[in-house]
Amino acid sequence: MKALVYHGPGDKSWDEVPDPVLIAPTDAIVQVDTTTICGTDLHILKGDVPAVTPGRILGHEAVGTVLEVGESVTNVAVGDRVIVSCVSSCGTCTYCRSGNPSHCLADEGASGIGWILGHLIDGTQAEKVRIPFADTSLYALPDGVSDSAAILLSDILPTGFEIGVRYGRVKPGDTVAVVGAGPVGLAVIATAGLYGAAQIISIDLDPSRLALAQEVGATAGINSGDDDWKEQVLALTDGYGVDVAVEAVGIPATFDMCTRLVRPGGSVANVGVHGKSVELELDRLWIQNIAISMGLVNTTSLGMLLKLVAQGKLPVDKFITHRFALNELMSAYDTFGNAAETKALKVLISR
Ligand code: NAD
Ligand code: ZN
Ligand code: ZN
Repeated sequence: MKALVYHGPGDKSWDEVPDPVLIAPTDAIVQVDTTTICGTDLHILKGDVPAVTPGRILGHEAVGTVLEVGESVTNVAVGDRVIVSCVSSCGTCTYCRSGNPSHCLADEGASGIGWILGHLIDGTQAEKVRIPFADTSLYALPDGVSDSAAILLSDILPTGFEIGVRYGRVKPGDTVAVVGAGPVGLAVIATAGLYGAAQIISIDLDPSRLALAQEVGATAGINSGDDDWKEQVLALTDGYGVDVAVEAVGIPATFDMCTRLVRPGGSVANVGVHGKSVELELDRLWIQNIAISMGLVNTTSLGMLLKLVAQGKLPVDKFITHRFALNELMSAYDTFGNAAETKALKVLISR
């Protein structure tokens, strides 16, 4: 089969590779009907994720059709249309049973990280993929849900909802500020209403992203390139700050912005993946009764979000900006990697 193979920092190619085969009785082989590229794949290609070794097939998001199942798989059958979760979960280890499969202990590398696809084992940017723990890592897809909607459930919608909205403890009437309006920040914005946010303020440097944010649920957009960005946000509250500030970029400056926007008693939810340490001004923050959270997505909300998507309750049709065929994956990377110019958000890659 053909697959997108990582050969080391800055080096990838569309290669002929052996087809995946069942290894454990809990595995399934899935034909990839649709996949996409995540910002994390770009981090890997820069060499920021050393656990990814040369020869690895990238990708951790997919919608596909089950081709083969191991003898102990009972939840999915050959021919089923499924969503692949970016977290592979055994369902029985201590972390899976306590609702934290992002730390599943049963993965083959025994890494204690549930995100293994396109990381520690071969991923979804290929014609076929082997999915471990198929019963608890694949989700059967109702007929009415399109691939372009379902693909958002592999990673970004659960990430925005779980790590932004739930960890941020959004409650009815809250004002939520979301710093960063990439796919993940937009997923926070699109799901913050589920817990009753009254105002959702999107903050980004890119005016086109701010416009998109308003299409998926933001009630205001503020450009953080403006000198008075903070005053603009405070003017939308009672002057004391927002109830919840969500960081969805992954750099020290935007985490710091969140700590400056939140009101006493509020929450800062960090979703961004940081490549370097961030200074935390405990001397200033301790007295403000602020909760700070962070984490790797568990995808335990995938089934719930799927029900909402199936009923048309989430604005999922705004996320896909470009479409490619599977054998055009290299050009899809060029388009996605140059988002400032191409205005790419999520690129849909289908067989
Ligand atoms: P992205 O790079 O597409 O979007 C980031 C956005 O931030 C862009 O729109 C950019 O214009 C904006 N931005 C940059 N600097 C800014 C600034 N100073 N002020 C305001 N906005 C600024 O990223 P994404 O794919 O949306 O992902 C966001 C983050 O979430 C990344 O760090 C990603 O690695 C992380 N992530 C975390 C998890 C998790 O489990 N915690 C899962 C997936 C992704
Ligand atoms: Zn991802
Ligand atoms: Zn587990």
